[in-house]
Amino acid sequence: MQPLRLTLATHGPEETLELGRQLGRLLVAGDLVALVGDLGAGKTCLVQGIAQGLDVPESSYVRSPSFVILNVHAGRCELNHLDLYRIHSPAELEDLGYREIFYGEGVTVIEWADKIEGLLPEEHLRISLDFRNETERVIALEGIGDLPRERWEALRSALAGFTEG
Ligand code: ADP
Ligand code: MG
Repeated sequence: MQPLRLTLATHGPEETLELGRQLGRLLVAGDLVALVGDLGAGKTCLVQGIAQGLDVPESSYVRSPSFVILNVHAGRCELNHLDLYRIHSPAELEDLGYREIFYGEGVTVIEWADKIEGLLPEEHLRISLDFRNETERVIALEGIGDLPRERWEALRSALAGFTEG
């Protein structure tokens, strides 16, 4: 079977937001999205789009502090947004009770997911973001594990309007 891989480019934060929005519309309870990319690559921007796609009210975002590891937002389903920038070891995720979050009823999106590679569920969507220049980012989406083919195809068509990276 074709590996589930899609590489796109966005030209400014609005396009990354829109990509997130399209993705967010297709996410369902229990999904996990692992984001990988340097500081300024656009991870938080993408999560904001995902939140919009999940019908999280904008006000929920304005209120969420960026210095905590976990922010939970109510939307079409719960959005667990983790930012692991400040963690030093995966053990810190144990204190957070990560299993209940990752295998729970919400959608989970993790910035700096490569810091806890070994804790990620077998099935997830991995998205890596790369800085190409001031406004351009390369965004690669990869299905890890047995993501059903129909879901992948739905995502591919939802993102068909984006330039290939
Ligand atoms: P991260 O969470 O990966 O550190 P952020 O989303 O917080 O990154 O910040 C990305 C920064 O890059 C923002 O200031 C945003 O305006 C800018 N930017 C420029 N072009 C893009 C793009 N194509 N996609 C996302 N962000 C972009
Ligand atoms: Mg960020």
